[in-house]
Amino acid sequence: MFLRPFLLLLALLLAGCTATNPRYDATKAHHRPDGFVNSDASLSIGTFPWYNILLRRWRGDFRPLHPPAGGYESFASYWSVPADLDRLQQRSDSPRITWLGHAGMLLQVGGVNILIDPHLSAYAGPIALVGAKRRVPAPLTASQLPAIDLVLISHNHYDHLDAATIDGLTNAGQKPRYLVPLGVRSWFAERGIDNVQEMDWWDETRLGQLRVHFTPAQHWSKRSLFDTNATLWGGFAVEWQTTEAPAWRFLYTGDTGYSADFREIRRRLGKVDFLAVPVGAYLPRDFMQPQHTNPDDAVRIARDLDATLAMGVHWGTFELTQEAFDDPPKDLAVALRKQGMAEQRFWLLKHGETRDIPLKSPR
Ligand code: ZN
Ligand code: ZN
Repeated sequence: MFLRPFLLLLALLLAGCTATNPRYDATKAHHRPDGFVNSDASLSIGTFPWYNILLRRWRGDFRPLHPPAGGYESFASYWSVPADLDRLQQRSDSPRITWLGHAGMLLQVGGVNILIDPHLSAYAGPIALVGAKRRVPAPLTASQLPAIDLVLISHNHYDHLDAATIDGLTNAGQKPRYLVPLGVRSWFAERGIDNVQEMDWWDETRLGQLRVHFTPAQHWSKRSLFDTNATLWGGFAVEWQTTEAPAWRFLYTGDTGYSADFREIRRRLGKVDFLAVPVGAYLPRDFMQPQHTNPDDAVRIARDLDATLAMGVHWGTFELTQEAFDDPPKDLAVALRKQGMAEQRFWLLKHGETRDIPLKSPR
C-alpha cells in the first residue's frame, strides 16, 4: 500500500534518463554532447549533489520562512479575482493578458489564443508528497479555457510543465500546437500528443500574423534523477505584425537569473512592448541568484529590454522558496523606486485577472 507512491516516485525519477543529447550541434555554444549549458558556460546550475538538496530541504530553503501578513487565506482572497470566462471566449486582435497564477498566462493577440506555462493543479512536483503546495486556487479549470491555438512551454520543471494540466487540455478536446524547448517533445509523445515543435534558442516560427521566437535564458532543466540539463530551457518572444510597422513585441523570459542574454535579445529582436518576467522564488539568494531573478533583477531586465510595460510572474501561488508570499510586491516597489521606473509600468495582476495591454503606453 505504502510502497506504491514510493515506486511511482522511483519510476518518475528514473524515467527520462538520458546520457546523450540527440539534438547536439557542435556549432552551437550552448550545446553539449550530453545536454545544454547557459550562455555563460562557466555557470553550473542544477548540479548540486543530492545530499546538499536534501539538507537544504530539511533546513527549510524551499518553503517560506513565514506566512504572509494576515495568513494565506487573506492573501489568496486579496490576490484573486473571478476569471471573466465570457471575455476570455472572445478572441482579441489587440493584446490582452490573463494571469493564471505562478508563470501561467493566457495571451490573446492577433486573434490567436496563446497559453503559456499553464499549471492549474494543487501542487507542483512529481507527486504531492514532494511537490510545492499551491496556496492560491487556480482561477479556472482546463475545461473553462477558450479554444487554445498555441501552448508555449519554457522548460520541463514541474512548476512549468504540469502533466495534469496538459492532460486536462487534451481531455477537454483541445488540440493546440505546442512549442517546446529542444528535448521536450518526447514527453508529449509519451502522452499521445504529436503536434509539438521543438525550438532551439533563436529559432522562429509563424502562426497567422504572429512570429514566435525561442529566446535564451539563464536557467536549467530537470525532470528526473538523471536528466539534469538534458533538455533546453528559455523564453518566448511573440511578435504581432499588423500592416503598421514595427511589430508589437511580447517577451516572456521564462525562469532565469539576471544575465547578458536580455541585452542580446534587445539587440537581435528590438525593444519589447510587453514583458512577463519572474519576480518570485528568489531566496535563499546563495542558491537562487543564478537561476531566479529577484524583483531588482527583473526591473534591470525590463530596462535592458527597453520594455514599455512589464508584468511580474512566478510568485504568489506555490510554496517554492524562502521569501514570504507578500515579499515580492514590497521588494518590487523598492526596486522600481531605486531604479527610477514608474510603478504603473510594472504590473502585478491578481490570479484570474485580465487586462488589455495598451498599444501605446506613456514612458
Ligand atoms: Zn525552472
Ligand atoms: Zn519555475
